[in-house]
Amino acid sequence: MDKPKVAIVKTGEMKGNAEFMPPIKKYRRYAEDVDAIEAAVAKAMELTLGSVDNLIKPGQNVLIKPNLAFNAPPESYAVVDPRTVEAVTRYFKQNSKAGRVVVGDNPSLGKHVGRANIAFKTSGMEEAARLGGADEVIYFDEQPTVDVDVPTGKAFKKYKVFKPFLDADVVINLPKMKVHLAKTVTLGLANWQGIGPNYHPSQDGIDGKGLHMWQQGQHRNDINAKVVDEYRIRKADWTIIDGVIAMEGQGPHAGEPVEMNMIVAGVDTVAVDAVAGWVMGFETDEISAIRMAYTEGLGERRMDYIDHVGVDPASVRRFFRRANNDPVGMYAGLDVFTQQSCPGCYVNIRGALDSFVISGIDFNEFRNKVGDCVFVSGGLPDFDPEFARGKTLFVIGDCWEYFPTSENIRQAIELAKEVIYRPGCTPVYIFSQINGDLQGLYNQAMAGD
Ligand code: SF4
Repeated sequence: MDKPKVAIVKTGEMKGNAEFMPPIKKYRRYAEDVDAIEAAVAKAMELTLGSVDNLIKPGQNVLIKPNLAFNAPPESYAVVDPRTVEAVTRYFKQNSKAGRVVVGDNPSLGKHVGRANIAFKTSGMEEAARLGGADEVIYFDEQPTVDVDVPTGKAFKKYKVFKPFLDADVVINLPKMKVHLAKTVTLGLANWQGIGPNYHPSQDGIDGKGLHMWQQGQHRNDINAKVVDEYRIRKADWTIIDGVIAMEGQGPHAGEPVEMNMIVAGVDTVAVDAVAGWVMGFETDEISAIRMAYTEGLGERRMDYIDHVGVDPASVRRFFRRANNDPVGMYAGLDVFTQQSCPGCYVNIRGALDSFVISGIDFNEFRNKVGDCVFVSGGLPDFDPEFARGKTLFVIGDCWEYFPTSENIRQAIELAKEVIYRPGCTPVYIFSQINGDLQGLYNQAMAGD
């Protein structure tokens, strides 16, 4: 069997990066940067498939699916670079014989808990797609869904999928190169988060506890199995990772940018992810989704069994700072108790607290005015309810009620100054919601001065 080809192509220096990177952190589009990225895309296509005509037949409908995980601006570095969205769109629009080229996604998180219309605009991707000549920008969350069976799924057997994703003749997978609190990295496989809807627990269509939130379900120890199951539904036809500016540290949302000026591309998403992850300083068996996709026969992860075309991976390897997913002891006055909690809750609490602390808030003022907060989830056999006395208590998730130790939390609820419930299993939405809750408490306290 032929080895899958994976291309690394450097874009060269980006003029706009001088302003885009810290300390200025101001996104600016220069035409020559978009041209340079498009040239890299063309080179990667030539190296991996010879010609775009080997990927797209005349008249076919092409969907470009970027990573629009958050309602966040380009300066967050958490979403695909608008320059890359424009370059990829323009490349396919001008060089293929596609009937239509559209850009579509559904963000999973953000202050608005995932509204595509808002997030496409905030991220700059909507304008970029239009500049690139996209026939349409599709807000997936305004589209019909199709129920699909996933008979070989390990995390789920049924899934709701947006119809435009299934209807596309060719799907271009356009993730961003980032580390991730729960998935180690987020690359091509993880970018299928977004093919299905998410709901806020207050919305209709779920059971009121957030137990059937599709995209936001199975985000516990089964998060990587979920990602692989999503990928089983429909493979990408070509994956191209935006590594112009990558993210290390507290990714996928609160990390620091890393200027890599590269793209990584190929047909086999697993192999593309393996190469990109290796370039980021991970061994391919450190990344659960890549490992699992390989053992399930969905692609290649072994570096020796990949045909490396373009730049030698070893020449561009850089060891990215890993994300730490433990919220315990991170911020004085934000005390977290997760003795028998799974990552579904504690990782998202950590993500939420990181979001809050980098939001520009005066943390000392917050402590002075609001006081201490206590966060609890899961089973807490050795938790002293007195910790919550007179404080703001956040009760996270659903499973605490089923533990024999639930009485500890019930007592804490009685002793707390204020209680904020964030139910769900997994309560992924708390990633943004708790940040909003804390900011609300702060604003309320300031207004009362
Ligand atoms: S509610 Fe319990 S099982 Fe569900 S994600 Fe939270 S800790 Fe895990």
